[in-house]
Amino acid sequence: MTQLELRELRKTYRSRGRPAVDAVRGIDLALRSGELLGLLGPSGCGKSTTLRMIAGLETVTGGDILVDGRSVIQSPAQARNMGVAFENYALYPPLTVAENLAFGLKARRRAARGDVTRKVADIAERVGLTDLLDARPAGLSSGQKQRVSLARALIREPDVLLLDEPLSHLDAAQRDTTRRELKRIQRDLGHTTILVTHDQEEALSLADRIAVMRDGVIQQLGTPYEIYDSP
Ligand code: ADP
Ligand code: ADP
Repeated sequence: MTQLELRELRKTYRSRGRPAVDAVRGIDLALRSGELLGLLGPSGCGKSTTLRMIAGLETVTGGDILVDGRSVIQSPAQARNMGVAFENYALYPPLTVAENLAFGLKARRRAARGDVTRKVADIAERVGLTDLLDARPAGLSSGQKQRVSLARALIREPDVLLLDEPLSHLDAAQRDTTRRELKRIQRDLGHTTILVTHDQEEALSLADRIAVMRDGVIQQLGTPYEIYDSP
């Protein structure tokens, strides 16, 4: 069980010949162990930047990120036990779905072969990929790729799960199923999770609390009930 805390987290992008962009301008947030926080807000408000900093994929301009009370901002991405499923799925084209999943597991720790096979089968069943284990990414629809990406994040049994629009490429029926699965997985395994979404229904059905971002800050924070029922 894992607590995640952001303190005064900031990010300014600077590139030569262009004005600096203050993408994240001081975020304070504390997630309880096993909590699922929905992160909402208009495009460009800093949601992805926030996730990438937590994941260790983006440097931090200021502030701190604490996992169980310990700062992780000096730790490289591989050293943080985080499961990440972002829009750009980054599946390895030459590998099958099963190999892509196993790769996520092996990158994390040396696992026994039988153990890897069992875990791949288990997670594939949870997200409905059993029939696609021998397929290669090029042959998959974007919705299927998205489920592989989700499975690859989950298979590592991460302390923290970071999901950026994980259901955006699914059709309505798949979205319903995957959302239910995600909820069950979240309940069973108790990951501390941040889920970025544009979809209010997704946020309502999955999130314990919702944070609404705007212009690099958190404008509103509360239960779905508080956020959507407030005037
Ligand atoms: P969101 O995920 O909410 O759409 P982002 O975190 O992607 O927002 O972007 C926040 C702001 O930072 C935007 O103004 C975006 O253009 C800018 N930004 C994002 N990534 C970069 C980057 N690598 N270099 C410069 N600016 C960036
Ligand atoms: P998202 O949908 O996750 O918010 P974006 O479309 O904002 O993604 O950005 C996609 C990619 O482009 C990201 O890797 C981000 O870092 C980069 N990016 C976004 N805005 C800028 C920018 N103004 N300058 C340079 N890179 C950017």
